[in-house]
Amino acid sequence: MNAPRPETIAIIGSGPAAWTAAIYAARASLNPIVFEGEQVGTEGPGGQLMLTTDIENFPGFPEAITGPDLMDRMKAQAVRYGTRVVSELVTSVDFRRTPFLLTPHYSDPISALTVIVATGAAAKWIGLENEIRLAKIGGGVSACAVCDGALPHYRNKRLAVVGGGDTAMEETLYLTKFASEVVVIHRKDKFRASKVMADRVLHHPKVRVLWNTVVTDVLGAGEITGLQLQDTVTGESSDIEVGGLFVAIGHVPNTGFLGGQLELTPFNYIQVAPWRTLTSIPGIFAAGDAIDDYYRQAITSAGTGCMAALEAERWLAHHGIGESPMLDTAVAPVVIPPEEVGRLMAAG
Ligand code: FAD
Ligand code: NAP
Repeated sequence: MNAPRPETIAIIGSGPAAWTAAIYAARASLNPIVFEGEQVGTEGPGGQLMLTTDIENFPGFPEAITGPDLMDRMKAQAVRYGTRVVSELVTSVDFRRTPFLLTPHYSDPISALTVIVATGAAAKWIGLENEIRLAKIGGGVSACAVCDGALPHYRNKRLAVVGGGDTAMEETLYLTKFASEVVVIHRKDKFRASKVMADRVLHHPKVRVLWNTVVTDVLGAGEITGLQLQDTVTGESSDIEVGGLFVAIGHVPNTGFLGGQLELTPFNYIQVAPWRTLTSIPGIFAAGDAIDDYYRQAITSAGTGCMAALEAERWLAHHGIGESPMLDTAVAPVVIPPEEVGRLMAAG
């Protein structure tokens, strides 16, 4: 029996990056297939925005839109133009052979001429039942201050930030614009964050730090009212009233299933060429939070999803599949070394 024909383009993931890539690929008649994943714990089809309520910073929705609504609409737009969707995780890949091989959780492996990896990242949560429940219903618990901190819910209240790394410092400083007080809760007696960031937090008049402290429960039914805390040195418990909780204890990029076949950054994000979505393997492109530990926004993910689809389209055309490209950018980009950038700028 002949092997099935390879897919032209397979997209792995289901956040803004994956659906945007699918919309572009479908409209370019590339007949994309998307593996949207499965619900595992707090992570599932639709990505991180399924865990939040109002999105106020995605352009085009002046009245705001909920995360799940936005993701439903993106998926519907991709499907409308012919995207096929498989509701399974891709559990392993073989990028050492061409066409590339993807193995889904239950169905048969498929091969594809080009692949876009848009599997995102998962914000880490403390893991308390009421923390996750309140995050899902918009009850004042979040893992993204830049996304949610400006919402009316958080204004002029005492807000708590959990964590001691640079993300926690950034979130804390951002929240001082809206909160009456920001209480940083850290499980150790010093921050892991860079000194410059830590100093800014420690010297901010609106910030108070609770050292050697962990959150043992999140209090409140419809919305958060406080936190139950425990001192890690004395073991003593106490409660604190807060109007919001921001969990800033790190992110984990969903790149483990790649089995080390793509070059990763030191923090396990997929390494791409500067301002491009090319990975270390020609024909494999990557987009969204899986390549980004810096911006981590829906709009930037959608933007890199678009870039990945255009690059994949041009790469295919470069190899004789599909329309002749407007711009043949399938070859490696010209990378200007940092010292050369300085010299060029100095030369005006
Ligand atoms: P993600 O949203 O990370 O989704 C990727 C998905 O791919 C995963 O959830 C999973 O279902 C799927 N997947 C993973 N691995 C596999 C696999 N092996 N096979 C198949 N599928 C797989 N940004 C904003 O711009 N505005 C906001 O208001 C905002 N609010 C936020 C609130 C919270 C609580 C959080 C946590 C984030 C928020 N963000 C916000 C950030 C935003 O959600 C992310 O930047 C964005 O979702 C990243 O999109 P992505 O396409 O990279 O993938
Ligand atoms: P991180 O450096 O890993 O810090 C995570 C913090 O959360 C640590 O303080 C850790 O405590 C704490 N933590 C982890 N799990 C916890 C739990 N279950 N309960 C309570 N606390 C917990 O992560 P990050 O802050 O997201 O930073 C990741 C990388 O990005 C770092 O290299 C950072 O420098 C970089 N970054 C840089 C900037 C910037 O330069 N502007 C901004 C953001 C991020 P312990 O200290 O006890 O381990």
